[in-house]
Amino acid sequence: MSITGKLLINGEWVTGQSGTYQAVNPASGAKLEPILSKASSAQVDAAVAAAAACAAEFRRCSLAKRAEFLRACATEIMALGDELVQRAIAETGLPQGRIEGERGRTCFQLNMFADVVEAGDFLDVRIDTALPDRQPLPRPDLRYMNQAIGPVVVFGASNFPLAFSVAGGDTASAFAAGCPVLVKGHSSHPGTSELMAQAIDKAIKQTGLPAGVFSLLMGAGREVGSALVVAPEVKAVGFTGSFSGGMTLVKLANDRPEPIPVFTEMGSQNPVILLPKKLASEAEQVAEGFVTSLNMGVGQFCTNPGLVLGIAGPELDRFIKAAEECLAKQPAGVMLNQGIQEAYNEGVATISSQPGVTCNAVGESHQGKTGFCGQPTLLTVSASDFIANTALTEEMFGPASLLVTCKDLAELEAVVTSLKGQLTGTIQTAPGEMSEYPELIDLLNTRVGRLLVNGYPTGVEVCHAMVHGGPFPAASDVRFTSVGSAAIYRFLRPICLQNYPPELFPEPLQNSNPLNIWRLVNGSRTRDAI
Ligand code: NAP
Repeated sequence: MSITGKLLINGEWVTGQSGTYQAVNPASGAKLEPILSKASSAQVDAAVAAAAACAAEFRRCSLAKRAEFLRACATEIMALGDELVQRAIAETGLPQGRIEGERGRTCFQLNMFADVVEAGDFLDVRIDTALPDRQPLPRPDLRYMNQAIGPVVVFGASNFPLAFSVAGGDTASAFAAGCPVLVKGHSSHPGTSELMAQAIDKAIKQTGLPAGVFSLLMGAGREVGSALVVAPEVKAVGFTGSFSGGMTLVKLANDRPEPIPVFTEMGSQNPVILLPKKLASEAEQVAEGFVTSLNMGVGQFCTNPGLVLGIAGPELDRFIKAAEECLAKQPAGVMLNQGIQEAYNEGVATISSQPGVTCNAVGESHQGKTGFCGQPTLLTVSASDFIANTALTEEMFGPASLLVTCKDLAELEAVVTSLKGQLTGTIQTAPGEMSEYPELIDLLNTRVGRLLVNGYPTGVEVCHAMVHGGPFPAASDVRFTSVGSAAIYRFLRPICLQNYPPELFPEPLQNSNPLNIWRLVNGSRTRDAI
């Protein structure tokens, strides 16, 4: 089955009833076949009703079946073969290696969550057995576990057409938690979205899960996306994208009669701090690594190093000179879509026109190139001008970075103090040098979700220890990550069963521990039966 332009609602492929559109190839500006359709509000309602109708069944389905389903999704994505890769390239302008790598990451993510489901630790089972003879009052039997929160809405991200879209990290973690998923696909890669939905549809049918476990709805965010977020049956939302889009959804969710959690990841400047001894020994290598990271994926990563902080001196001058030379050789690359290219150009123009900002270097021109290209750019500003102007704390989504020159350590600390919440913070340090800056490091710690040493923030490992989130506005809820196995906790809620009939205990809470999972029984971690 190739791309049909249809939507997947409750296991049926149907034509959207709210108009048509076509995908655009950002490398050429040409429209792509076929004609695609958008969901009507009645179709949104039907998908939500189907998700709600099967939520209890999916929540209760065995961990083994859920894991089998996640693995089947990965297998079916691989089975899409080259059609998926070629369509994703055509819709995003991203190169084949990147798309293939992202496909691998997507399947790895699904398989990792299958392992997480089987291990059962995410259930966080806690059992306090009854103490009938306790004085002055007996204690009842109390059993706690995490369970699925209910239907989840996922907004596909433009910049990760596979790994953070229809079958990406948000969807995988929601499925792993036992939640039906309603995807509002990104209109920048709709054919890719449909192919991924076809893979999930096959996996649902193979594993015998209810059809309402997954729906794909395409259409405008303000119509389809908003309708999904306000639907009473929806219990949580996952989103990656712009600050304005993310905050609109947070407000919509908070204004519902029953407010629900919205987990938004809204980007970041990702400060990189250059310590002087590091620059004294390796300024040129650090500059080269920085420019490579900045220009990777045409800068369209939420972890792009968009802010560099250093203390004025000959070492920093060497870094700037090397970064200018390296950046000037970088080609302009095709951006994901026209809107993102325009937003990038406007963002760079706005930051460039602020008091004290200088443009130090630009990459190769995109004049004469076809497609929606972004030109790499390096800007500089003094710390005092940076601190005085909140406009300079706006993310430029693309291959541009702002270097802030500080007079001394006190000014560097003042800049870090002025920063909003960030996904990442990076320290470039010589061996032992970092320990000379305890207050600076601690300040940076309070601003970020991930603190890296001697690396670059692009490249987010999918693993158990990852945090991809951070203080607001990097994310709407500082307590959670959207990448890695801990992302599952966004879509769980605890339930406590008190004095419950043992014959009705769900498997994780049964005395015999039939799943052989780790549990906290009367305060001790054990796999033993009770
Ligand atoms: P976006 O505009 O925030 O859109 C993301 C998704 O949310 C799309 O499906 C969009 O629907 C929907 N949406 C946006 N505003 C909405 C609203 N008011 N109500 C309901 N739904 C809404 O992000 P984008 O398209 O990926 O890129 C635009 C800009 O976002 C970029 O230029 C960049 O600044 C930023 N961005 C940040 C990150 C990050 O990692 N934090 C990633 C990508 C982009 P539509 O289909 O109608 O657009």
